Amino acid sequence: MRRKLVAGNWKMHGTRESAEQLVAGILAVFPAHCDVAVFPPYPYLAPLIARNGGALDFGAQDCSEHDDGAYTGEVSAAMVRDIGCRYVLAGHSERRQYHHEGDAQVARKVGKALEHDLVPVLCVGESLEEHDAGRTAEVVQRQLGTVIDHCGIAAFGRVIVAYEPVWAIGTGRTASPGKAQEVHALLRSQLARADDKIASSTRILYGGSVKPGNAAELFAQPDVDGGLIGGASLKAADFLAICAAVC
Ligand code: PEP
Repeated sequence: MRRKLVAGNWKMHGTRESAEQLVAGILAVFPAHCDVAVFPPYPYLAPLIARNGGALDFGAQDCSEHDDGAYTGEVSAAMVRDIGCRYVLAGHSERRQYHHEGDAQVARKVGKALEHDLVPVLCVGESLEEHDAGRTAEVVQRQLGTVIDHCGIAAFGRVIVAYEPVWAIGTGRTASPGKAQEVHALLRSQLARADDKIASSTRILYGGSVKPGNAAELFAQPDVDGGLIGGASLKAADFLAICAAVC
């Protein structure tokens, strides 16, 4: 049985004060029936973890593919682990799009995260153009396949996959529950071709305009193991309502 995870990606939103309030709001009604994690902007991570680390899991939105060195602006997986993060996102579509991160680089980041005892959340998903051209399966299987090749299938005993169709992120458009299930099943069968047992334990989250009103139907799909939530994770009430939609 895979325990569901609801993860809030705050992106580059908020202030120190709003970040503290958001965490306090989540902790006030802490959902115990699923795993919950939040991914605040870097500067707020360490103080939030210092204050709330025992009560809530935290993740970073990215990490470097390098261990250390002259990489101005980057943050290593070791640093992210050092401040107490449990998770790190790898290959979010905004990193792929605006920072030109390719599949191989994303795979190296997943490898670094694993080396430093973090749980990587590997984001995959097709653009609108790829979707409209009927290339969803090809794109997500290529993205996942590169990480399987680089890290090995055993890594997926730990790695979490997030299917996030790019056309659904922040747009208010959501993949239908049936379509999400179809892609999740495809990803799981790709993992199963390498190792059936690992595939059945790998958590595959859905992300892309998940809201309190559509979460229950998405989370009810057999291969949807929770959600990666952007916009709706910025309001404690909405985020908690999404957590409550986990059955
Ligand atoms: C995301 O940023 O990963 C995301 C899914 O955003 P939103 O929920 O706003 O679509």
